[in-house]
Amino acid sequence: MSDKIPLIAVNRVSEKAKKTLDLVKKFVDEQCIPADPIYEAQIGEGAQRWDHYPSVIDDLKKEAKRLGLWNMFLPKGHYKESAGFTNLEYGLMAEHLGKSRVAPEAVNCAAPDTGNMEVFAKYGTEEQKRKWLDPLMNGEIRSAFLMTEPDVASSDATNIKMSMKREGDEWVLNGQKWWSSGAGDPRCKIYIVMAKSDPGNKDVYKQQSVVLVPADTPGITIERMLSVYGYDDAPHGHGHVTFKNVRVPASNIVLGPGRGFEIIQGRLGPGRIHHAMRAIGAAERALEWMLMRINDPKKTPFGKQLKEHGVILEWVAKSRIEIDAARLIVLNAAIKIDDLGAKRALKEIAEAKVLVPQMALTVIDRAVQSFGAAGICQDTPLASMWANIRTLRLADGPDEVHLQQMGRNENKRGAEVTALIQQQQKTSEQLFAKYGVTRHQPGSTIRSRL
Ligand SMILES: Cc1cc2nc3c(=O)[nH]c(=O)nc-3n(C[C@H](O)[C@H](O)[C@H](O)COP(=O)(O)OP(=O)(O)OC[C@H]3O[C@@H](n4cnc5c(N)ncnc54)[C@H](O)[C@@H]3O)c2cc1C
Repeated sequence: MSDKIPLIAVNRVSEKAKKTLDLVKKFVDEQCIPADPIYEAQIGEGAQRWDHYPSVIDDLKKEAKRLGLWNMFLPKGHYKESAGFTNLEYGLMAEHLGKSRVAPEAVNCAAPDTGNMEVFAKYGTEEQKRKWLDPLMNGEIRSAFLMTEPDVASSDATNIKMSMKREGDEWVLNGQKWWSSGAGDPRCKIYIVMAKSDPGNKDVYKQQSVVLVPADTPGITIERMLSVYGYDDAPHGHGHVTFKNVRVPASNIVLGPGRGFEIIQGRLGPGRIHHAMRAIGAAERALEWMLMRINDPKKTPFGKQLKEHGVILEWVAKSRIEIDAARLIVLNAAIKIDDLGAKRALKEIAEAKVLVPQMALTVIDRAVQSFGAAGICQDTPLASMWANIRTLRLADGPDEVHLQQMGRNENKRGAEVTALIQQQQKTSEQLFAKYGVTRHQPGSTIRSRL
């Protein structure tokens, strides 16, 4: 894999990262992808899907630790807990991890724990870090991030309304959350919750706080688990959770009252790049399956193998172009985060967040089509990959929100480019006068000949 790093990025990748990248590829190809169906089989059926987790993951974690593949996501230079890689270097690794369902968790780089660990590392007190960050970094527990609510349009987080009131030395929470990813896992021990603590604050961006709520706190009920196109994503899952007079110590607040927005913005930047790179890995895997299918000698519609039908090769070529182009967008965003920080890379992060899932869905869909009906059932990984990637157009904010912000920012150049174009037109008029010619009008000679 390290010999395939795009030229634009190769000089920024350390020797240590190149070696790790090769190890990640080997680990994913040889151990994780073959373990994916074992994981699914070990989850079992019915209610038991939520009362245990597949043991194969523990063996993979041991092997990953032995290989030194652990916590590669925390960027170097920012966290003392970092494994020593840049966002760019980890981005290249995340592409491989995205090819397998179990791989991200096997190397302790799975969402939402990665973003949650960043919250603890960046904003947590020493006590919060020892209690929650250490076991998360060791892969002993899992976590969830609870922001979205069923009753409000949560893509605009100022709407979040779960109440959070101070009573003596405690915070008391009431309300409901849904799409709480990871809440189904019996190892999920801590929720990072965004709630409204200061509804009277005139600044709508200072009304919310983030608070740490242990998953076993009395008053919390997981009402149901939500499905994604029919997949339950057990044992991780997406919970609909209610809070009734849930009490936590006042010291469980992160950073301080009214600072929720600061935290969620800090949490989401690099995580979007991780999702994007994993989605590129999924697209690469879909292309690999498509190549296998179109070379299958047993399948010869209309007397030819699929690879001999021109349109199919065009799908292959287009997929190659689109994956390679999308990868450059993501790596560019990763480089900008490394050099200037996530805040100054918002445009590049949004470009990747919007473009990559759409690209990956197109590629996966072509692969599905090449398989015929087999492509939409459990006999290939394509159907579940499509469902999984489709969620990325909603999770961490729907496409439209990012596009609106990007469109607004791009449009700020409106007056400047108008002035430039008008100046260019004026200069052309002066040049017409200087050279004694008039603007060429196509068709005027034809009319005069008639
Ligand atoms: C698989 C999955 C996992 C998730 N995991 C988590 C999690 O762990 N924790 C968590 O808190 N949340 C999670 N979410 C929730 C996700 O972040 C929200 O669904 C998302 O932010 C959108 O919020 P909403 O569903 O309330 O949609 P709404 O805010 O109601 O928006 C609905 C639609 O309105 C449109 N829209 C919104 N704003 C604009 C605009 N400005 N211009 C034009 N159109 C617009 C968009 O098309 C959008 O899809 C997850 C979602 C999914 C699907």
